[in-house]
Amino acid sequence: MIPPEWLLADLVRIAERYKMQSVTKKKYLKHGKYAIRQYHNRFGGWDNALSEAGLLTWHKLLAVRKDRRAVGARLRYKVLEKDNFKCVKCGASPATDAGVVLHIDHIVPFSKGGETVCENLQTLCSKCNFGKGVE
Ligand SMILES: [Zn+2]
Repeated sequence: MIPPEWLLADLVRIAERYKMQSVTKKKYLKHGKYAIRQYHNRFGGWDNALSEAGLLTWHKLLAVRKDRRAVGARLRYKVLEKDNFKCVKCGASPATDAGVVLHIDHIVPFSKGGETVCENLQTLCSKCNFGKGVE
C-alpha cells in the first residue's frame, strides 16, 4: 500500500513543477508516479485528493477565474482617474450631479477574453452602462 502522504506529495510535486494551481488527471497520467485509481481508493475521488493536497479543485479554479473579473479598489481608482471621474460616454459626473453613479466597465467584455487591466476598463455612469446592450 502506498502511504497517502506519498500520493499527495506527488500531486504537489507536479503542481510545483508545472507552476499550476491544480493538477488535471490528464497531466497526472503523463507525469505522475502512481495510478489514478490509487487516489480514488484513498481519497474517494480526484477532487478530494486535490483538496487534501492543498490544491484547487476544478470548481475552485473556476471560482478563482471568476474573481479575476472583479475590479479591486486600487484599480478602480486608477480607471476613474484616467477618465477624470466622468462617464466616458455622456460626461456625467457625481461632482456636478449627485445622482450619478459611476461604474467600471470592461471595454472588451470579460466573457470574450477581455482582461481586468486599466487599458481594458472604462468609466460609465449607470445609465450608459445598463443601456449598453440595447443600443
Ligand atoms: Zn453616461
